[in-house]
Amino acid sequence: MDLKERVKTYREALKGKTPQKVLAYVLDEWGGGVVQASSLGAEDQVITHMLLSLTPRPRVFVIDTGRLPEETYALLDLIHTRWDLDLRVYAPAAEDVEEFVRTYGPNAFYRSVGLRKRCCYIRKVKPLMRALEEAKVWITGLRKAQSPDRDGVEVVEWDELHGLIKVNPLADWSDEEVWSYLKSHGVPYNVLHDRGYPSIGCEPCTRAVLPGEHPRAGRWWWEQGKKECGLHTKRTRRDHG
Ligand code: SF4
Repeated sequence: MDLKERVKTYREALKGKTPQKVLAYVLDEWGGGVVQASSLGAEDQVITHMLLSLTPRPRVFVIDTGRLPEETYALLDLIHTRWDLDLRVYAPAAEDVEEFVRTYGPNAFYRSVGLRKRCCYIRKVKPLMRALEEAKVWITGLRKAQSPDRDGVEVVEWDELHGLIKVNPLADWSDEEVWSYLKSHGVPYNVLHDRGYPSIGCEPCTRAVLPGEHPRAGRWWWEQGKKECGLHTKRTRRDHG
């Protein structure tokens, strides 16, 4: 059975299972082929904490775009020293960033959606492709409740773009469940969450949200319409600008 065909089997096997059971299942199936993509957000911290209780030195990667908030680097440093992880940090290619900055300027992402997507592509999407090269299954913190655009997130998905199984163990969790887990287990989290940032990305492209605003309203707040960085796109590689 090839990887893609297994998705259906896994969906059946994991229907109604807790996130811990989902993670245990894929670890049992794929061992070192399982990697967690962490943006160090609340959901990611929950998942990393769960993985630590299930397997020694779980594989976790973080994409350091070079423009992350200081608070995110502080959390990265903390888990680097406190948790026993096979933690890998991927950076964008220096020549890509140099060319972008030389051609358009360091903050060109504010000027057009095209330039913003180009910046996300070189700082996030390309490093993600490297991070996933040897993986069979990648684990993310995507949840349905994060955004109307994420309504269709399933616990197990086929990722056509990367040719991998994508597992979103918290797909059905509410905000309350995420925060209850973090607090009850004393899991460290990004202090920006306490300052009005439900969703945290790069420093120049994230602001706090106002009461009543959508949780992702602070991401690329100057843009209208659907706002994603391309990390979870379903498009093919050649579609990226
Ligand atoms: Fe560039 Fe902003 Fe995308 Fe970060 S979020 S990669 S700074 S456009």
